[in-house]
Amino acid sequence: MIITKNISKTFGQGTRAVRAVKDVNIRIEEGERVYIHGPSGAGKSTLLHMLGGLNLPTAGTVTFRGKDVYYLRDRGKSRLRNRHFGFIFQSYHLLPELNVLENVMLPAMIKGGESAAGIRSRAAGLLETVGMDGRLKHRPGQLSGGEAQRTAIARALVNSPDILFCDEPAGSLDSEMREGIYLLIRDISEKNGMSVVVVSHQAPDRGFFHSEYAMKDGVLGRMTNDTSEGSRETKAQMAKGFRMTDDRVQTAEEIQYLKG
Ligand code: ADP
Repeated sequence: MIITKNISKTFGQGTRAVRAVKDVNIRIEEGERVYIHGPSGAGKSTLLHMLGGLNLPTAGTVTFRGKDVYYLRDRGKSRLRNRHFGFIFQSYHLLPELNVLENVMLPAMIKGGESAAGIRSRAAGLLETVGMDGRLKHRPGQLSGGEAQRTAIARALVNSPDILFCDEPAGSLDSEMREGIYLLIRDISEKNGMSVVVVSHQAPDRGFFHSEYAMKDGVLGRMTNDTSEGSRETKAQMAKGFRMTDDRVQTAEEIQYLKG
């Protein structure tokens, strides 16, 4: 679904240059759930933004279903993001002048092709699933951090994305709510074949992800293929075989380095 070839990102120039991401090769399959961890400043968010078409790599390519994400013109890129990608970020980016329900409806209204009533009922259903049904008319400024995060999660799912990019998706939630959100994401992923990339300090339940990567100093390494606690679907998908683009196996020293 998504394949990167040697993507790198450098911020700044000369002696101030920061190489945030270095030559990353990753392949994310349809329906695959990927977990990426690593210390703060390792380059995880930068990588996620590059995968999601939000931040042009300094070098290398990102393709989605065979199309170069950054070769698309602005409108094509926006359409790709609106129709195929979902984003859950640490900062929720909710529009302050819209209420909770309207915020969740917005991406579907932009996409078009559906009645406002249909969108409204789908958005309300998603908000109920994330436990926000009592807050539909609230403005973002009237919400707690956890409520804003749950609203952002519903909004990310409203257009049934093919791939969901999550940066600390449950950072503001207590452990029970966090588990609920991961279960919801996993459920949708299994039903619709949605791929998921999670960047987080807090590991999701092992059954959640098919593949785990660690990042350090801009370098990404694959940690494990172990799906022993994963679902049957997970195992069936793994049987089809997820492979890294470069098929490189991490050495024990490299894994130790990545673990920190
Ligand atoms: P992580 O998500 O793993 O905490 P980031 O991807 O946010 O790491 O950051 C990786 C490195 O890139 C850090 O050293 C950070 O300071 C730097 N960085 C990130 N974004 C910018 C930017 N817009 N301008 C300059 N440096 C940046």
